Order: sequence, then structure tokens, then C-alpha cells
Amino acid sequence: GKTIKAPIIIIGSGYGGAVSALRLCESGKKVLLLEMGLNWEKSGIPYSNLLKPGKSSAWLKKKSIAPFMNIFSLTPFTGILDRLEFENINIWVGRGVGGGSLVNGGMAVTPKESYFKEVFPNLDAEKFYNHYFPLVQKDLKVNVIDEEFLKDCPYYKFTRVGEQEAHQAGFKTIRVPNVYDFKYMEKEFRNEVPRSALNTEVIYGNNHGKNSLDKTYLKKALETGNLEILDLHRVEDIQLNEDKSYTLNTQHIDTSGNILADKTFQCDQLILSAGTMGTLQLLLKSNALNGLPLNEKIGKSWGNNGNFMTGRNWVKPLSGGTGSKQSTIPVGGIDNWDNKEHPFFTEIAPLPMGMDVATALYLLINRVDKKGEVTYNKINQSLQLNWDKSNTAAMRENAKYFIRKMNQANGGTRSHLLFNNGFGADICYHPLGGCVLGEATNEYGKLNGHDNLYVLDGSLIPGTIGVNPFVTITAITEYCIENLIKQNEFA
Ligand code: FAD
Repeated sequence: GKTIKAPIIIIGSGYGGAVSALRLCESGKKVLLLEMGLNWEKSGIPYSNLLKPGKSSAWLKKKSIAPFMNIFSLTPFTGILDRLEFENINIWVGRGVGGGSLVNGGMAVTPKESYFKEVFPNLDAEKFYNHYFPLVQKDLKVNVIDEEFLKDCPYYKFTRVGEQEAHQAGFKTIRVPNVYDFKYMEKEFRNEVPRSALNTEVIYGNNHGKNSLDKTYLKKALETGNLEILDLHRVEDIQLNEDKSYTLNTQHIDTSGNILADKTFQCDQLILSAGTMGTLQLLLKSNALNGLPLNEKIGKSWGNNGNFMTGRNWVKPLSGGTGSKQSTIPVGGIDNWDNKEHPFFTEIAPLPMGMDVATALYLLINRVDKKGEVTYNKINQSLQLNWDKSNTAAMRENAKYFIRKMNQANGGTRSHLLFNNGFGADICYHPLGGCVLGEATNEYGKLNGHDNLYVLDGSLIPGTIGVNPFVTITAITEYCIENLIKQNEFA
């Protein structure tokens, strides 16, 4: 077929893609965004909740793919949650117009300044904490739960119990901001509006309440009239042309995953925002397939952001456990980051199973002192992750220490209900790195060795940021795209 030409193409509509699109469109540039997932808002198809997985719950799978309890059969559909399976780790990612913002828990956490400086020694931290972080908190619509609501709401018993237990064990707790509109949640509770967070909606999408990117950055970008989004368009590989433009081989698919058409796009400037794993897949595959030039830093400094899941059973069974009703939106965390021997942060996570299972779930975020590496296996044509038990050993020690202290102070057992041996070392929600800012790219995300190729997403962060990552991904993208536009990089 014929080649479709566009000056600027962005691949992927998650945080990196949405921020880049908005700022370019505001500066008067025409942008074409290619997204492999579905435009859910446009489709009008509702999202499923956790108790009844349906169309939105998995990317072309025959069975549900939550971290645990997958007893549900599915008809394959281009759902919003995908699970990438590697030898020692499973990585969950979002698919659809809005990327990870559609599936995630909305926790909007600004990193600790001391750790940000350690991870990004060359960035101007003052500018980030005075300008970029406040900017993205506003534009992502970050807010905090009202303490009075939290104190009485039966849907937050799991948080109150979790915090009491943490204090009993000598840990410090913190309030966690979110992009879920807590005023909407209060109305849900009073039955004035349809329920979402209070109706077990999360990871398969939220029909209400959550300010995902389709309601913030992407909406504003579309309002400029300069953005076109093509959904269900999966870029297969990238070719560098002699005139330094790029050709993208793309498949237009239907919602069952069938290929409707092979399409070829050509652009002067290309922004890769396919998420850490998507961007690495495109770069490494294109290099293997058609010799796309890559520098030796691509694939290096990959990490799971220290993700380590664990849980406890028999949490206060006599005093009513963690509650049969649970909001899906976490608001509590335990901050043990400044502990020299066991530095970690953990989310007090909900487990909204529709009954009281007296079980507490925690997603620990640890340091990543031993990084992994992503390569491409030409034989089975897939990404390969150099990552094993040794990479998560220190995280396991932290989880052991945490669970032991919590159980000693409060009773309870390590959760064998949720995980083998009580530990989910192989569960990753926060893949980061592999195309590190200032190493594989210049100081603003332009790929080394290329004139017109930019990477703007989680792969710029070297494997760790110490908290849930999307606030940092958004801020780094704001910083990069602002400077790239200033430097007149875009035609
Ligand atoms: P993404 O948001 O992953 O966007 C990439 C987009 O590119 C996707 O839409 C994808 O479909 C598309 N794409 C990929 N390849 C192609 C291709 N070849 N062609 C076309 N399109 C392509 N973080 C937090 O900060 N707080 C949280 O509470 C939180 N909870 C989470 C819960 C879950 C279950 C998961 C999975 C993640 C969570 N995260 C959370 C992590 C957060 O969502 C991600 O870090 C973030 O979305 C990454 O942003 P990104 O811009 O790098 O890419």
C-alpha cells in the first residue's frame, strides 16, 4: 500500500507520549500518535471490575491475568492489561489510549529529593522540586483523601488497620496522594453518583472517578486540533532512511487481534513513548531486523523499581479483619526508606475480594543495587531479560524483616494464600530503564547516534526511583520536551 507521511509521529499514549503530544501541539506542531491499544472512551465499551473480568481485563488472553486468583475464562479481546512473561519475572503493562494510566492505582508520589539526586546527579533538582513536580501534580489532577472521610469510611478499614499495625511495629506511615478524585469517591459513598473505586474497579479500568491521561493531558492535546490518534495501530519495526527520516511498519488490528491491514508510515521526527518494555522491544528488534543503529547503552541499567509483593494472613481475624468492603484506591504507605539496613517504602494495598479475607497485601518498593539488562533474542524473536534471584535478594531480606516485625507486633502469618512462600519476587508493575537519560540519550532524550529519534518514557529512568514512578516519568518528559522544543528540534 501507499506510505502515509506525517512530520512528527509519537508511538504510545502513556505518560511520555501524552505529555509530548500536549506540549508539541500547544507549540503549534501537528502530531500523529500511534497506539496499539483501543480508544476505550470512543468505543463506549465499559470497563470490567475485579470480580467480573470481561473485555477490558486482558490483552488478547483466554484467561484473566491478575497477579493472583485467575479463575476466569475470557474471550480474547484487546483489553487494557497485559502481562509480559520472562523466566524470573512477570511484567504488567497498560494498553489503550492512556497507556498505564488506564490500569494503574493512580498513586501519585513525588520521589524523595535525596534519592532523586542520587538517581539523577546531573539534573537540576531545585528546578524539578520548584517547577516540574508542582506542574505535573496540577496537570495530572493529583489530590489527597480527606482525613475525616478516611477515619470513618468502612471501605478504608484496611488502611486504618494497616496503619495501626505499622505504628504498633514501630514503622512510620505516610499519606499517599492519588489522581482518583476523592470528592467523587465521597459522593460514591453517599450513593449520589455511580460507583467505581467503591465497586472493585481498578487494573481492568475505572469507569468513573479516576483522572487517567485520556481525561487530562490527552484531552487537552486533542482540544488544540493538532493531534490525531490512531488506535489499534501496532508498530512492528522502525527503519532509518538515507534522508534521516524514519519508516514505521505497522499493523492495524481489530479488537480480536486480527490484522486488518499492514500500513507504512514515514516521519521526519519520531518519539518513542511505548513504555520501557515497548520502547526496548522496538529498538532492539529493529536493530536485529534491519540494522537500526543503536549505541551500546541500550538495554543497560534496567530495573523493576524494587517491586516486591508480600502479604500477611490472619490479620486481626477476631476484630473483624481488614474489612469485607475495600476501596481499590490505596491512600496509606509505610516509609522505612531512611533505615540503613532495610530501606524500603511500601503501599498498604487493598484486596477487594468482596469478603473479609483478613489478609494484608503490600507492594514494597526497594532500592535496586543490582541492575538487569534487556537484550533481543534473534532466534525466538523476543526480548530477553537478564534478571534472576540475585537481583531481588536484598528486596527479599527487606520483605522478610518487614513481615517478621509486623507479625511479632500484631500477630498474623506470612501469606501463603497469595504467594508461594509468602513472597512475590516475580511481580513487577514498574519496569524502568534500558534507555537512560544522559547515557543512551543526550540530556533531553535524543537517542545517541540519531538526529531525529527521541525516547520519552519510563525507560529514561535507570531502573529505580524509590516510589511509584508515573509522577517522575511525567516530570522528566515535561523537562525534556520543553527543552527539545526550545532547541528547535521539531520541524
Ligand atoms: P506506558 O504508560 O506503559 O505507555 C506505553 C503505551 O505504548 C501503551 O499504551 C502501549 O499500548 C503503547 N505501545 C507499546 N508498544 C507499542 C507499539 N509497538 N505500537 C504502538 N503502541 C505501543 N505507577 C504509579 O506511579 N502509581 C501507581 O499507582 C501505579 N500502579 C500501577 C498498577 C499496575 C497494575 C501497573 C501495571 C502499573 C502501575 N504503575 C503505577 C506504573 C505506571 O502505570 C507506569 O510506570 C507508567 O504507565 C509508564 O509510563 P510510560 O509513559 O513509560 O508508558
